[in-house]
Amino acid sequence: MTRVFNFSAGPAALPEPVLRQAAAEMLDWHGSGMSVMEMSHRGKEFIAIAAEAEALLRELLAVPANYKVLFMQGGAIAENAIVPMNLLRGKTSIDFIDTGEWSKKSIKEAKRYAGVNVVASAAASGYTTIPARAEWKLDPGAAYVHICSNETIGGVEYHFTPEVGDVPLVADMSSDILSRPVDVSKYGLIYGGAQKNIGPAGLTLVIVREDLLGSALPSTPSAFDFKTVADNESMYNTPPTYAIYIAGLVFAWIKAQGGLAAMAEHNAAKAALLYDYLDSTAFYRSPVARDCRSLMNVPFKLKDEALDSAFLKGAEARGMVQLKGHRSVGGMRASIYNAMPAAGVQALVAYMKEFEAQHG
Ligand SMILES: *Cc1c(COP(=O)(O)O)cnc(C)c1O
Repeated sequence: MTRVFNFSAGPAALPEPVLRQAAAEMLDWHGSGMSVMEMSHRGKEFIAIAAEAEALLRELLAVPANYKVLFMQGGAIAENAIVPMNLLRGKTSIDFIDTGEWSKKSIKEAKRYAGVNVVASAAASGYTTIPARAEWKLDPGAAYVHICSNETIGGVEYHFTPEVGDVPLVADMSSDILSRPVDVSKYGLIYGGAQKNIGPAGLTLVIVREDLLGSALPSTPSAFDFKTVADNESMYNTPPTYAIYIAGLVFAWIKAQGGLAAMAEHNAAKAALLYDYLDSTAFYRSPVARDCRSLMNVPFKLKDEALDSAFLKGAEARGMVQLKGHRSVGGMRASIYNAMPAAGVQALVAYMKEFEAQHG
């Protein structure tokens, strides 16, 4: 068996020990005689699995007691509608910070439910920056302020938590959740699809402050009413049981690595290796401003894009896959989430040097 270094933006690489454990437990979970996939979500085995996953997540992120953790479905794209349906609370508009493709998707969807004010935008920089907090023209009457903490496509990431006063801060953290410690108490709600840094596609994580629950629009589907989901401990409908199980194994793996502080260190070291090399040569370049470069998704361009396909082919021959950039950006993108070992980034940089020596 040969495992590649998988630089996919999502669904993305998972920690190998997690996959091995899942394989070992596939036919018989802990003497139950069943695969987790075959368990009733209301049986004692699965209830224990879900409770353990939630407890580990709460521990990793130090989630305060007045926040609910919800295991949902539909992905972050569904949350772009579910969040406004739940969080308007009688208000009529939402403030958005526009930092790229994923913010734009959130904005477009929210317009179906509320007035939308784009109170700051990085459009003028070609989405290579994060607008400084001082430039945001926030409305104190807004239902909430929405940010995307890490733009998976453009590769810009917040390296600060914005202060937004009494208006709840909502963040799409799909692609940087659990990559570093976060002060959850600064947010009204955090959401993300699992398939970047948490586990398999199909699970959506929502962490929401309790006082924001209970005012969903009457048209909200029951299965997407956060209060209903919370009151039923994410078991109003059948949750994505296997994905929750794998997420729990990933949480345990992160804890065993030393938790989120250790993850942040590991991720910063990997990203520095790649960015330092990009900055040291004119053959490659990072389009993103230095102070907001993503530690998770690193887009880069070759000096001559005619070499792109040769670069990708050579990478694949060396066991490095999914480096092609998003179609809207072009070039390359290396996604280096928690599960990407330092050895993967070292191999990538070694190959980039080799390729430059051949073609530079
Ligand atoms: C991947 C991603 C999404 C889309 O998630 P789905 O699971 O496809 O709904 C949304 N926002 C961000 C920041 C992402 O990285």
